[in-house]
Amino acid sequence: MGTYAVTGSASGMGKATADQLRAAGHTVIGVDLKDADVTADLSTSAGRSAAAAEVLKLATTGLDGAVLAAGLGPGPGDSRSRLIIEVNYFGVVDLLAAWRTELAKSGNAKVVIFSSNSTTTTPVVPGSTIKALLAGDAEKAIASVKRFGKNASAFAYAGSKIGVSRWMRRNAVTAEWAGAGIRLNAIAPGAILTPLLQAQLDDPELAGAIEGFPIPLGTYGQADQIAQWVVFMLSPAADFMTGSLVFVDGGTDALYRSDDW
Ligand code: NAD
Repeated sequence: MGTYAVTGSASGMGKATADQLRAAGHTVIGVDLKDADVTADLSTSAGRSAAAAEVLKLATTGLDGAVLAAGLGPGPGDSRSRLIIEVNYFGVVDLLAAWRTELAKSGNAKVVIFSSNSTTTTPVVPGSTIKALLAGDAEKAIASVKRFGKNASAFAYAGSKIGVSRWMRRNAVTAEWAGAGIRLNAIAPGAILTPLLQAQLDDPELAGAIEGFPIPLGTYGQADQIAQWVVFMLSPAADFMTGSLVFVDGGTDALYRSDDW
């Protein structure tokens, strides 16, 4: 049995993953704004440092893996893009940087990052947003989506998910990660009926876009289904897997990119 840090453990897919890991006998150290083993605000650098340190303190028998599920979707308000960039991108890469040494000690650690199929289904996400994220420049990334006005947060969202996916693929293959036996993979869910998606469906400005989003299988996914994929990606079945971005999205990515591979 292993010990896993799970961010976003209080709701939706993070909670479903934490529940399934615990039911299988693993130890979970959940991180969230409330209702978690570690209560922390991942939208600030200080909050991320405190969360990372607290998890390491609680991981008395080591850390066998991590699931980075905390995140926010697009929504109204001027501060939304900032929150998305801080939590969805830096809430992943800062925590993993802080946990890398401990994960390496396991010899066979596995990390699953929550990306999204918005990576491939959102057109014209500025390259400058991704470049700024990978350079660690939150302010530049936030500024780069301002020109989209009331749609800025949708581009911040897709940018944050492209950013974590690219960060994952670049790092997965390096001596620091693959060379230390740490498998870095990401899951790209489509529309999954969680409180995050429900909030978008309840927002008159966003509901139309969500309802018009084509899903070939004709239904929303469920948090439990995605959690099963994540638990599988943490299991020995994934020993030979690193750097993969796994789409579980009812067919939307294949529909948008039928001729890609
Ligand atoms: P959710 O809203 O149910 O859960 C997200 C969790 O993140 C919440 O518990 C929330 O409190 C936590 N969180 C948000 N801001 C935080 C902060 N500042 N500090 C600490 N924790 C914070 O959402 P979900 O749908 O389960 O989403 C999980 C992940 O999956 C997110 O990264 C999301 O972007 C991604 N995703 C969701 C969908 C979808 O359709 N639901 C699709 C693709 C990707």
